[in-house]
Amino acid sequence: MSRSLWLLILPALVALACRSLPAAVPEARSAIPKNIVLVVGDGMGPSHFAAARLLRGEDFEAGRFPVTGLVATRSASSRVTDSAAAATAMATGVKTNNKMLGVDAEGKPRTTLLEFAKQAGRSTGLVTTSVFWDATPAAFAVHTASRENVAAIIGQILGSGVDLLAGAGAELFGKDGLPPLPSTAAQHGWSLITEPAALASAPPTKALAVFPSQPNDVENPGARLPVLARWALERLSKDPDGFFLVVEHEGTDKASHENAAADLMASLRSFDETVSVVAEFARERGDTLVLVAGDHETGGLRVVEDATGALALEFGTKLHTGSLVPLFALGPGAENFGGLYENTEISRKVQALSPGRTR
Ligand SMILES: [Zn+2]
Repeated sequence: MSRSLWLLILPALVALACRSLPAAVPEARSAIPKNIVLVVGDGMGPSHFAAARLLRGEDFEAGRFPVTGLVATRSASSRVTDSAAAATAMATGVKTNNKMLGVDAEGKPRTTLLEFAKQAGRSTGLVTTSVFWDATPAAFAVHTASRENVAAIIGQILGSGVDLLAGAGAELFGKDGLPPLPSTAAQHGWSLITEPAALASAPPTKALAVFPSQPNDVENPGARLPVLARWALERLSKDPDGFFLVVEHEGTDKASHENAAADLMASLRSFDETVSVVAEFARERGDTLVLVAGDHETGGLRVVEDATGALALEFGTKLHTGSLVPLFALGPGAENFGGLYENTEISRKVQALSPGRTR
């Protein structure tokens, strides 16, 4: 071959070689996360995350996640979902009617992400600032057509096989038809924790931590959501098979329903602080997928400035709205959570990342 011909084809060869370089590297496949943590900011739409970002400044944790998505939230029965139908969609991948938990629109029980995790031998936990049988955690462990059937939901959640439960509502037991808390826990074989000091010595499974309700998640420092989230992570991560955990902040929804700006700010701070605890755990390990999302928007929130130039929050309604809600993803598999999709896709995407499943 003549020298001039080499000069002619050399650039083409180099270009070919360069183009084929990525093929020599094993195709980047999304890793399977060992652990999955879903952090739900109840009632948090785009403006709630905008406000959290302004309040937390440099510390705003969700904003550091590498992948963001937008989630459509309508339920089977309404353009405006409630927390029961929204959590059921995220838990089961099926749209259901408002007020329904863990069942489809026909009332048929559907297997939840928590139940799939359990079947795969993983440990499971549900942690909330609300009563421990609140709609969001309950949708992952309970199957009932009515979220208002409190006694039945408590019985189902305690009988569900979940390993750790932490939340509020201690003050509601022993009256209005609810038996005392100690006998309720004992009946289902749970170790009951009612003081923050007892958290450290709780058993690794069937530990039920129930505290008096805190309006702003600051009144009982030892039982705040960031503390309970860390407690659950430490315990569940002892399982060599991995774990599935749902952490919910309900104060963001409650304050939005009440159009209470100061309470909402307190809840947004506590929510993002909780996200920091989970993100720190996940970054240290590298084997944990963290999803942070609103379940629906509440309050028609607007972020504005008052006359003095300070951050102010205004509301357009005391109800839920049909707004899209943001989702933030961190860890193995996070790349699957970008874009705009229905809340049912969260369940499908998580299931597709489960070990032994063909994708
Ligand atoms: Zn609500």
